[in-house]
Amino acid sequence: MAQVIDGKLVAQEVRAKAAALVDRVKAAGIEPGLAVVLVGDDPASQSYVRMKERDCDEVGIRAVDFRRDATLSQGDLNAIIDGCNADPSIHGILVQLPLPAGLDEEATLARISPEKDVDGLHPQNLGRLVRGIEGARACTPWGVMAMLDHYGIDPSGKRAVVIGRSSIVGKPMALMLLERNATVTICHSRTVDLPAVCREADILVAAVGRAEMITAEYVKPGAVVIDVGINSSEKGMVGDVDFAAVEPIADAISPVPGGVGPMTRAMLVMNTARAAARVAGVEL
Ligand code: NAD
Repeated sequence: MAQVIDGKLVAQEVRAKAAALVDRVKAAGIEPGLAVVLVGDDPASQSYVRMKERDCDEVGIRAVDFRRDATLSQGDLNAIIDGCNADPSIHGILVQLPLPAGLDEEATLARISPEKDVDGLHPQNLGRLVRGIEGARACTPWGVMAMLDHYGIDPSGKRAVVIGRSSIVGKPMALMLLERNATVTICHSRTVDLPAVCREADILVAAVGRAEMITAEYVKPGAVVIDVGINSSEKGMVGDVDFAAVEPIADAISPVPGGVGPMTRAMLVMNTARAAARVAGVEL
């Protein structure tokens, strides 16, 4: 039976480290602040934002709400971002995705000051990841790396396969595994014979968005399987991995819920604490 990777536990540890950093930033005279921008009334987004604000509360970050209805114009959204960029009491800006139709996600993310981009999705921060230099890291893949570290899973020299090539998860995930010396393959919707490629993986990360698509035939016995997917099904929330089928053959596996999801939020508060620490001149 596989070791079940406990994302809630690791996230709690990350939040404790973020809280310790926040304390040092406050001692230097700065209260970390996160602007939370939520446009529209998507129930999933509302619930993510509520949880993110609760996390901020726990670690001592002041969350400042910008809730607007879906009719918000791009110009008014830009004005909110510009205001937050200029506001010294705001150290991080979170724009909850997806934005309603009619608003330009790429332009919005690029408008956030890279120093305040705590989602790690600004082109400059993704570029920093490519270059291997310090900067805010994309929260979901960074959370996966924190999970691997916690469980002593060293990617160095291992074959890693990432399924999915989005800019939010798949691509930065592959780069972070590469940075840690894994031999990385990225798969996507055009990959031929996906199960055979996945079976080469010592570390398999699924970030597709298809309920329980990864069955036992995709997994090499003894592999580490990380499930990033969040899908609603008749069973409720499920991942991209068929947990019941894969768990008996994997060495370690992250569940959904209780796996990567809590880590993404924990890395957001860590990125915010670090952004405030840079402003305060507090060592990371
Ligand atoms: P996306 O739709 O942008 O990307 C999905 C990727 O999967 C694409 O690159 C596509 O090429 C690939 N793909 C689609 N069908 C495929 C197939 N049949 N075979 C192989 N590859 C295929 O999605 P995303 O934003 O990267 O998110 C992926 C999943 O992760 C979603 O379920 C999303 O809800 C979830 N997610 C979870 C968290 C978290 O915190 N746990 C964070 C972000 C995203």
